[in-house]
Formats: sequence, C-alpha cells, structure tokens
Amino acid sequence: DSVFAHVVQGPEDPILGVTVAYNKDQSPNKVNLGVGAYRTEEGKPLVLNVVRKAEQKLVNDMSRVKEYLPIVGLAEFNKLSARLILGADSPPVQENRVTTVQCLSGTGSLRVGGEFLARHYQERTIYIPTPTWGNHTKVFTLAGLSVKNYRYYDPATRGLNFQGLLEDLGSAPAGAVVLLHACAHNPTGVDPTLEQWEQIRQLMRSRALLPFFDSAYQGFASGSLDADAQSVRRFAADGGELLVAQSYAKNMGLYGERVGALSIVLKTSEVATKVESQLKLVIRPMYSNPPIHGASIVATILKDRDLFNEWTIELKAMADRIISMRHQLFDSLRAKGTPGDWSHIIKQIGMFTFTGLNPEQVAFMTKEYHIYMTSDGRISMAGLSSRTVPHLTEAIHAAVT
Ligand code: PMP
Repeated sequence: DSVFAHVVQGPEDPILGVTVAYNKDQSPNKVNLGVGAYRTEEGKPLVLNVVRKAEQKLVNDMSRVKEYLPIVGLAEFNKLSARLILGADSPPVQENRVTTVQCLSGTGSLRVGGEFLARHYQERTIYIPTPTWGNHTKVFTLAGLSVKNYRYYDPATRGLNFQGLLEDLGSAPAGAVVLLHACAHNPTGVDPTLEQWEQIRQLMRSRALLPFFDSAYQGFASGSLDADAQSVRRFAADGGELLVAQSYAKNMGLYGERVGALSIVLKTSEVATKVESQLKLVIRPMYSNPPIHGASIVATILKDRDLFNEWTIELKAMADRIISMRHQLFDSLRAKGTPGDWSHIIKQIGMFTFTGLNPEQVAFMTKEYHIYMTSDGRISMAGLSSRTVPHLTEAIHAAVT
C-alpha cells in the first residue's frame, strides 16, 4: 500500500476548476467566461506581436547565455518595472529609495511581499477587500499574516461601498497593511474614482496604514498605462512608504512566463538597501532566483522606444476589445428587453463584469446553455466575442425570467 494512501482528494481551485469543467463539455456551443486570460474575437489566446519581435531579438543575440540570474532577478527589468508603475519622474525613483525584485508573476510578488512583512513588519494584519481575488487570503495567510476584510462592493448598487470602506479602514489598527487593487478590481470591476482614491490616501496616511498595491492589470483597464497607475502614483508621490506587486501576465500576455515584480517604496535609500538584503533572504530558500526568459522579453520591450510604443498600441487594442464587448452585451440585453438594470456592465472596468447573477442562475446557465463562469457571477469579458454575445444574452435572459 502507498504511504500516501490516506491522502484525501483536494477540491478543485474555484477559478481554474471552471476551465476543467469547460474542457469536459462536448457541446459545440460551449463558452468559457471563467478564464482570466485575454482571447481574440476568434476566441484564441494572443501572443503580442511586440513580444514575438522581442523574442526574435533575444534568440538572434548569440552572446546571450542561460546563466542564473541574481536572487533579485534581472537588474534592468527591475529598474524599468519600477518606472513603469511609479512613473519615470516619480520622487522615490529619482531619489533611489525603491527596491524592486523580480518575482514569479503577480502571485509570487504578493507572496514574497507577504513573507517579508511577516518577518520584518510589526503589525502583521493585512486587510483585503470583500470580495477579492480568491487567492489573496491563501497567499497572505501562508505568508504568515493575519487576514481581515474591509467592505468594498455593494451588491445593491453593484458599485463601491465607499462609506463602508472608509469606516472599516478608519477602525483598522494603526499600522495595519491594506491590500488595494491598483485598478480593474477583480472580481467586481469596480474602482474608486480619483477623488475617492484621494480620500482613501488621506485616511490611510493619517492612520499610518501601509498600502500594498496589487497591480495585475496596468493598461488593461483603460488602455492607458499612466491612467491605470494613478492610484499607486498618488501614494508614491506623498513621501510615504508602500509595496506594489506587478504582473505582466495580462498587459503583455506573458501568463505562462511567470514574470512580475515586487517594489517597495521607502523613506530613504539606506532603508531600501537593507530591505533588499532581507528580500534576498526570503527568496533564496524559496526558489533561489527567478527565470530569465520572460524578464528578458519585458526588459527588451520597456527599454526600446519603438517596441514600447508598439506595445502600448497592442495593449490598447486589447482593452478596447473588452470595452466593446461590454457595450455589445449591454445593448443586446437591452434590445431583448431582459428585465433589470444592466448598466453596471458598461460602468465596471477591466477584464471582468460582476453580473449580479446568483449561484443558482450561474448553475442554470452552465447546465442549459454550456456557459462557464465562477459561481459568484463573474464573467470574463475577454472570453466573449461578437459571435457569442447573442448566446450569452439568451442565457442571461432565461436565467432571470
Ligand atoms: N492579482 C489579481 C487581482 C489577479 O487578478 C491576478 C490574476 N488573476 C493576480 C494577482 C496574479 O496573476 P499572476 O500570478 O498570473 O500574475
């Protein structure tokens, strides 16, 4: 008998499990709106042209070797990543008081940041929004932090519960860490306005709450890299400290390359140097050093003006297609006279729409219409196309009537 015979079958990941169920479905009409990955109008994964070009450049460069990267990753990538999120003219960048380490995409960056906080920050509580990306609780709990929630989404308005948010952050213990989605909040697609961000910033700074931004969608929400970084940049400009986890999965389509960065903005460059030395001690026993290929692609694009411009155009095209899907779905539901106010579909931003459909309605749509999504009613707009909008409209209509 196996010494592991007692091991019980674990549950499927709630998000990735949707794709597992989708793959098993034999229906030609099946639609996968669960995946958090961009799809073309034809429903195909997309490799950006600019990424192909950068890869070609890397392949042609015979001087490139496959040596280990340093523990903190590719230096050029780190520097350019900090500039991308904080802005090239940002005070912390100019004053050399940011430390950036290359990590395994957004998830790895959150985890390394969490482990660092658990070891070196005195207030080991992190507040995350309700709801949030399903992995946050697990990542931070395993990192050694105690996870609490703050109110974020209001089901009644399908918008932000701003009052609840301010109350909860206002009563969090001084010094607590607060996880903020930099833009395109997942799963709700609901972001604070710039005025609301300003109030959040003032409240957090006045109560010495430490911001930890999760930036998984820079450029993907509005189509503009700068617009989507405003929340982070405001906090970076006020002289205070913060952490930010960046992912290149969505905005460069580098999902499986696992490329991301953790930046910590500090008060002085002396502190930044010491913090970096401790980040290395977190990383070394976990995976020694990060992979080289994805970071090289990103650095190649970020440092070359032409490639960078090309990237921004391709990025905007992805964002625009998603925005256009929102309008098509909204118009289609209206044309059909589906009961309810569906304006949140065009108000919410980013990859996801939080439809407001309940788990029973979702189960009905999966069973009767072969439409796959998470049971919280979240649909990936990127998984939708002009061809599938009518089918989804039928399904939603049937589910709510
Ligand atoms: N944070 C949020 C809010 C996300 O939506 C995702 C991806 N679904 C991530 C982090 C991490 O993604 P990755 O590790 O693939 O970069």
